Amino acid sequence: MNASAQPMIRFQRVNKWFDSGLHVLRDIDLSVQPGERVVVCGPSGSGKSTLIRCINGLEPFQEGELTVSGIRLGDGAKALAAVRRQVGMVFQQFNLFPHLTVLENLTLAPTWVGGLSKVEAAERAMAQLERVRIAEQAVKYPLQLSGGQQQRVAIARALCLQPRVMLFDEPTSALDPEMVKEVLDVIGELAAQGMTLLCVTHEMAFARAMADRVLFMDEGQILEDAPPAEFFDRPASARAADFLSRVI
Ligand code: ADP
Ligand code: MG
Repeated sequence: MNASAQPMIRFQRVNKWFDSGLHVLRDIDLSVQPGERVVVCGPSGSGKSTLIRCINGLEPFQEGELTVSGIRLGDGAKALAAVRRQVGMVFQQFNLFPHLTVLENLTLAPTWVGGLSKVEAAERAMAQLERVRIAEQAVKYPLQLSGGQQQRVAIARALCLQPRVMLFDEPTSALDPEMVKEVLDVIGELAAQGMTLLCVTHEMAFARAMADRVLFMDEGQILEDAPPAEFFDRPASARAADFLSRVI
């Protein structure tokens, strides 16, 4: 990896408070290089979702600087739109439109926001559905699919906007156990294809297998940032050790 490359994501001393006064992100410093795969873990309420929601401007912050491929968030609507074009996001809940078919779910944004013709958008959608191995379900409605299939559709939908970064917020937490693997396999394949990705997950075997780095968050801080072998075998903080003893 080229250490001098412009980071894909760069936090510099980012601080965020909610209106309640909660100091939810504390002095976040983080650089993610193109092609890096980062897993974020930590106890519930530690700020993981807030951290990744900042990256595509779903959450504002009060202090510090955050750039996505050199574009500074907080520089107005144009910068925000430019950042969002580069960042795909997949949530725990799939958020598919139930009244649209799988294919229509995928072509909606590329035609309305991306300016593609219907034919172009459909071609692109089918290619992404093939990538997540669900092309045969294109004319079904989301609720006719299993949870694992719906989540793969949600991943394909994000990919249709051709992001340079994919953010996943606990993508398998809402799934029945037998469907977790099919979704993690798809994310692992994206990682292998060189996609830059940040994934909040408690699937530690997955983290060990695919992550370049694991971040451990606690009370709004990144307490650890280490390669998986180091993080899992020799966590530096007592809090991470305690967390690991409960999730593994
Ligand atoms: P995690 O994803 O690690 O569980 P979150 O980022 O969702 O943590 O939340 C971090 C903390 O911020 C929690 O204490 C949560 O209750 C609080 N929080 C999240 N969203 C809001 C909000 N919109 N307003 C106030 N507090 C919030
Ligand atoms: Mg969360």
